[in-house]
Amino acid sequence: MQQNQHPVRFSADAGCLPEPVSRPNVPHMKGHWRSMKIWTILIGLFLSLLVTDWVPVTQANPPALRVVVVSIDGARPDGILQAVTPTITRLWKEGSYSFRAQTISPSTTLPATTSMLTGISPDRHGERDNNWWPGEATVTAETVFSLAKSQGLKTAMVVTKEKFGFLARPGSLDHFEVVPHLAPDVVLRALAYLKSEKPHLLFIHFADADITGHLHGWMSPEYLIALQTVDEAVEILLRMMEETKLVRETLLIITADHGGHDFTHGTTLPEDMTIPWIAVGPGVREGYEIPDQVVIYDTAATVLLFLGTPIPAHWDGRPLRSIFRP
Ligand SMILES: [Zn+2]
Repeated sequence: MQQNQHPVRFSADAGCLPEPVSRPNVPHMKGHWRSMKIWTILIGLFLSLLVTDWVPVTQANPPALRVVVVSIDGARPDGILQAVTPTITRLWKEGSYSFRAQTISPSTTLPATTSMLTGISPDRHGERDNNWWPGEATVTAETVFSLAKSQGLKTAMVVTKEKFGFLARPGSLDHFEVVPHLAPDVVLRALAYLKSEKPHLLFIHFADADITGHLHGWMSPEYLIALQTVDEAVEILLRMMEETKLVRETLLIITADHGGHDFTHGTTLPEDMTIPWIAVGPGVREGYEIPDQVVIYDTAATVLLFLGTPIPAHWDGRPLRSIFRP
């Protein structure tokens, strides 16, 4: 299906003008947002007279929505559909999704995740190697984290591999944590940070399905059980977000860096290139199958759109505007 190095995109949104800074229409931001903001500032000033350590809302500390991006390493859409994944199934049914989204070539973790989080193709970010060691140079391109941070937002990554350090540009992350374990442990670390620090942008990486795919084969019974384990981790994350009401203000994106076939990946075979792309959150259409061709770098642009952070005009990625209710 996919022979080219770069997936063909069919989106009509192909202009190269800078994206407007406006946020998508989310229900709780409609109406009297402006007057609410003035009231917030006035009440804040009043309270700050009473409580000395109270921090009023300022430009450096803007009220913003949250995005959690979950990357399930090596997750094939047909694997998610075949495995026992009640939580992810509920999410795509309650949200917007594509089961024919495309990653970039080479379909390996570091080049693909770099495209996912920089909004550009490997030709432009230059990362074709799937290895990185602490002390080596980090990515030179701007990332969703560096751009969100420049707007005063709080950013974090909780990942299973040191090599994601490549994406931790100096000063771009408030928190970078490597948890070299499987999903049940990773999710507990991620939600501990989410609960206490409430970052505006959190990236979580689960390695289970990829590890099992290399050991037992993609779509093997073991691989499907690994996806079930990840689904249970997503359920724990979701339950915590519901209990703390974070779910009301959070865009949750569930996707993957690449698929896989036999015991490997990295080729331009459809099995390696096709990834799931699921978004659920305030203002996101329910049960909506995204008609446009989604490409992995559209994730970055969609994240910035939701956070109200300007999207670089030169990016390959375009925000998936159609997922938001008009
Ligand atoms: Zn792999």
